[in-house]
Amino acid sequence: PSTAPAYDRRHVPADLPTKIQHYIGGRHVDSLDGGTFDVLDPVSNETYIAASAGKKADVDAAVAAARAAFAEGPWPRMLPRERSRVLHRIADIVESRDARLAELESFDSGLPITQALGQARRAAENFRFFADLVVAQSDDTFKVPGRQINYVNRKPIGVAGLITPWNTPFMLESWKLGPALATGNTVVLKPAEFTPLSASLWAGIFEEAGLPEGVFNLVHGLGEDAGDALVTHPDVPLISFTGESRTGQLIFANAAPHLKGLSMELGGKSPAVVFADADLAAAIDATIFGVFSLNGERCTAGSRILVQREVYDEFVERYAAQAERVKVGYPHDPATEVGALVHPEHYAKVTSYIELGRSEGRLVAGGGTPDGLEGGNFVSPTVFADVAPDARIFQEEIFGPVVAITPFDTDEEALALANATKYGLAAYVWTNDLTRAHNFAQAIEAGMVWLNSNNVRDLRTPFGGVKASGLGHEGGYRSIDFYTDQQAVHITL
Ligand code: NAD
Repeated sequence: PSTAPAYDRRHVPADLPTKIQHYIGGRHVDSLDGGTFDVLDPVSNETYIAASAGKKADVDAAVAAARAAFAEGPWPRMLPRERSRVLHRIADIVESRDARLAELESFDSGLPITQALGQARRAAENFRFFADLVVAQSDDTFKVPGRQINYVNRKPIGVAGLITPWNTPFMLESWKLGPALATGNTVVLKPAEFTPLSASLWAGIFEEAGLPEGVFNLVHGLGEDAGDALVTHPDVPLISFTGESRTGQLIFANAAPHLKGLSMELGGKSPAVVFADADLAAAIDATIFGVFSLNGERCTAGSRILVQREVYDEFVERYAAQAERVKVGYPHDPATEVGALVHPEHYAKVTSYIELGRSEGRLVAGGGTPDGLEGGNFVSPTVFADVAPDARIFQEEIFGPVVAITPFDTDEEALALANATKYGLAAYVWTNDLTRAHNFAQAIEAGMVWLNSNNVRDLRTPFGGVKASGLGHEGGYRSIDFYTDQQAVHITL
């Protein structure tokens, strides 16, 4: 391996913008007070651009633009089919630019380029899916024979506030923008401050697709400034938030005086449970992918692996060997499987957990920075075995390429261990016993369970967590429900 400093190998995409601005009422604008914040690239940790730092006044302007577009503009009044056409055009444009999007996302976030490409395609699919869904949407009608007909008049709510995290930022923004726009709302998006680059592409894409002016507004900035201004704005009746559980708690409290609609997709510490009767090779491949793909910066990462005692030693040995083979490298290298963590602050958090893990478990793979990759936020895939359930690396979300493995004996013990954290986002179960698989899946405290399966999404299914992992489920018609009001209209016959 090379010993060249990481920043010498930095791949800077051509034609980067010179600054990142807000987009309000159809115009790219600076913050009213001129404030900016620095954005780093995670390979060199050097500032490569300044982004406008939105404050309350900027959010006020964005909400006013969105409110005007909602009150007077065509978007909420268009037929679902007409809105759907615009959304399909958005999907077409995203698909046609997937390579460029992936290049920018990978540069800004440190995600491996091949995985960033997959996320760009998923972003297109999110728009396509909700474009189709609103056209197929039908609402309930109830007849009381001879007396009444009662029907549901579904309407968009108004200005939707969308607050998103830095992991797979473009895709997660699309997961909110798709249903919010499909249902006829207007929006203000506040993307994560670590990764504002890909979000700055939406305005051009939407203009080209024919989205009317003022429907989409974007304010960059810090969570406590721009994010909070959106959460506490009286003209924003609903907030869709994805991020950390403790931020979710804060937003819940700050939104309470305004009685807003809230959808919260929060953190996780999801278990992967491997029984002795499982297809071990498949379970190892999937659990390697489950925690090391997307740099481990994935809400549904299977970051605790519970393994039945009979196969425990073999599993740990094979798993550690495979983790050592995962290729850490420059995000723009197509061979890279784990890139650079998003930001030095996050890198410091992840590496502090690795140091802690040395006393809480038995280090069997990784534990440091790969040779030749010093200088950026690179971490080797790290595996701790024999981790006790009260260990912090078992309990707390690390959000990096770090996994804890713990043995169990019985089904009851596995279930108790699986449920022994405050989180409840996802779970993965590996067994060839069909009855056990279903019983276990149904008893586990998780919003989503994958049986003998990788984390593969079906956009029609509920997406969300229980316990500290979230509030409300989106996905399919649930997203439509969140972004609309269902008014009951009664007619006496
Ligand atoms: P974060 O909570 O730090 O920030 C998320 C967003 O909230 C950012 O845009 C931030 O600026 C904003 N924010 C911060 N404080 C705010 C405040 N007081 N008011 C309003 N907005 C505020 O999360 P992160 O570090 O960007 O993202 C990682 C976290 O997101 C992890 O916990 C991960 O599990 C979670 N996540 C969950 C899902 C899911 O679907 N459940 C998906 C992806 C990520």
